Amino acid sequence: LFAQGAEFLKGVVAMDGLPPADRIETCFAGRSNVGKSSLINALTGRKGLARASNTPGRTQEINYFTLTDDHYLVDLPGYGFANAPVAVVEKWQKLLKSYLSGRPTLRRAFVLVDHRHGVKPVDDQIMTLLDRSAVPFQVVMTKADKVKAAEREKILDQVRAALQTHPAAFPELVVTSSEKGDGIATLRAIINSLV
Ligand code: GDP
Repeated sequence: LFAQGAEFLKGVVAMDGLPPADRIETCFAGRSNVGKSSLINALTGRKGLARASNTPGRTQEINYFTLTDDHYLVDLPGYGFANAPVAVVEKWQKLLKSYLSGRPTLRRAFVLVDHRHGVKPVDDQIMTLLDRSAVPFQVVMTKADKVKAAEREKILDQVRAALQTHPAAFPELVVTSSEKGDGIATLRAIINSLV
């Protein structure tokens, strides 16, 4: 899947802007600054591909990338921004709900969790939304290189405990560092296995 190279397709602000549901898709969700763009760039091997999502004004868009004729990668807007106006947050929550519950070709969501911080309340809210939308999801730990080896297991245990309350969660965690390349091949293999 990743051999052909990914291309940015479009940014979507409303359900009627979604591309036709003619292939399967995988989406990526996470708090702003969790390392989502870096991870998508590492996965696709294309520096700067997912930069658009960080440009002011584009942060509320669902960004579609074409992986192949059979697969879209979908970059959901980052959540948990401290200073966003209530109206903006509500608008994107509405779009997110519609997207998650109304996209039959969505095979799996990856919820990115900063390895230094573990699952925060706002991550837990997204997981609950995924449960309710019956979208299977898997947690991807980011920035693992920033955590001391001795502390890693403790945080992973916190994440595993948090996942117990989420029926849509896969128990296996994927531990990554976009900086060092750890876990990237594993995540690619998981995405490749989705059909
Ligand atoms: P996004 O807002 O979720 O798209 O986050 P970005 O991908 O823009 O990353 C936010 C910050 O974290 C940037 O300064 C990145 O360089 C840094 N970052 C992202 N991934 C890693 C990682 O694996 N290791 C380290 N050390 N820093 C990272």
